[in-house]
Amino acid sequence: MRRSQLFLPTLKETPSEAKIVSHRLMLRAGLVRQSAAGIYTWLPAGYRVLRKIEQIVREEQDRAGAQEVLMPTIQSAEVWRKSGRYDDYGKEMLRIVDRHDREMLFGPTAEEVITDIVANEITSYRDLPKNLYNIQWKFRDEVRPRFGVMRGREFLMKDNYSFDLDYESARHSYNKMFVAYLRTYARMGLTAIPMAADTGPIGGDLSHEFIVLADTGESAVFCDKALLELPAPGDEVDYDSDLGSTVETWASHYAATDEKHDPDNCPISGDQLVTARGIEVGHIFYFGTKYSEPLGATVQGPDGQKITLEMGSYGIGVSRLVGAIIEASHDDAGIIWPESVAPWLVGLINLKAGDSECDAASEKIYADLRAAGIEALYDDRDERAGTKFADMDLVGIPWQLTIGPRGIKDGKVDVKRRGADEKVELAIDALDDWIAERAGS
Ligand code: ATP
Ligand code: MG
Repeated sequence: MRRSQLFLPTLKETPSEAKIVSHRLMLRAGLVRQSAAGIYTWLPAGYRVLRKIEQIVREEQDRAGAQEVLMPTIQSAEVWRKSGRYDDYGKEMLRIVDRHDREMLFGPTAEEVITDIVANEITSYRDLPKNLYNIQWKFRDEVRPRFGVMRGREFLMKDNYSFDLDYESARHSYNKMFVAYLRTYARMGLTAIPMAADTGPIGGDLSHEFIVLADTGESAVFCDKALLELPAPGDEVDYDSDLGSTVETWASHYAATDEKHDPDNCPISGDQLVTARGIEVGHIFYFGTKYSEPLGATVQGPDGQKITLEMGSYGIGVSRLVGAIIEASHDDAGIIWPESVAPWLVGLINLKAGDSECDAASEKIYADLRAAGIEALYDDRDERAGTKFADMDLVGIPWQLTIGPRGIKDGKVDVKRRGADEKVELAIDALDDWIAERAGS
């Protein structure tokens, strides 16, 4: 992408309405603009990041055996009446009346919609287990939308729902998601710690919140330092095998939000106890027959008996993750994107646009990058060098290549890794190898 043509409205000034660094940087780096309280338009650079995060989430869901569907944003009140949540949900639910006076709503979550589908379509135990997910916009009329996309009213969520015949199998579905979540966040460069969460009024339930540590997080959290060093399950993970021991390894270390933390009974103390703030980026839940029962999601078992399905639901805050990643990875100059979610992998700065030699060298590198399939942002504008450097840093492009008259004379290009101090000179002749390396990684 040529910077001269890109719609990337960066700001020099810090917007006064933004209270936390990720919100400030998302506005300054031209990723989003607020459209109404808690409702945002995603601009090109921000939308690229959002889609990358979405894609990582999708790949890890698919890998764990979940199947993607797409449910509507607008739901009928009818299914929510069946579960009893139409009244319970209160003011967070945006209620709509259509022209025929039918009660509708903008989905804040989708347990009812998906359970209704399964109740209608799945009739035999042979068709189980099933795990269905979608990545769809949700609306919750939060009392206090704030911190930009971190607590929006409209936000993108990956939500999935598992349907199993019995507790053992439901537990396995839960464990799969537990492991898939660890992998998902790790791929985005995040350490997200699973913390046992409150399970509400129904006993025997199981729930974990996945929390990224950051000073601006909304929850106070306490955890065993060892969790920060625990590596996420690697590519060898086999979702058909018993994942219990992996989950146990994580779950056996102490980790709790302030709602659950009891200082008098905390097994960890001293330096080993991390006291921090955290951002909830995911939540997984096993809740048995809470929805399958009222919505009639049953199947015929092997002996012809009626079995009510065991369910779980699993959420990831896809749009919140954009903010969470920035909270975890930035410096005074701007965002430092992990390569896996960066809007562009390489930024190319032409220090003297208009100079025929600089233009020719830059165009060649830009063409080579594109030919190698590398997403590149080419700053071809006639702007001061300082402005271009500041912009690339602000937007957080992982690799920056700089071409200028002096470099061309010496046959050199400057290579900078965002976030690391080092800036190295590379022979222009060696760029082919450098590009091949980036393309392969
Ligand atoms: P919170 O306690 O932050 O309100 P929640 O418990 O209401 O979260 P869930 O219903 O479990 O959230 O939703 C799944 C995920 O969706 C959360 O873990 C979070 O990452 C994300 N999420 C929830 N509410 C919002 C919001 N208002 N804006 C952005 N993301 C959100
Ligand atoms: Mg909430």
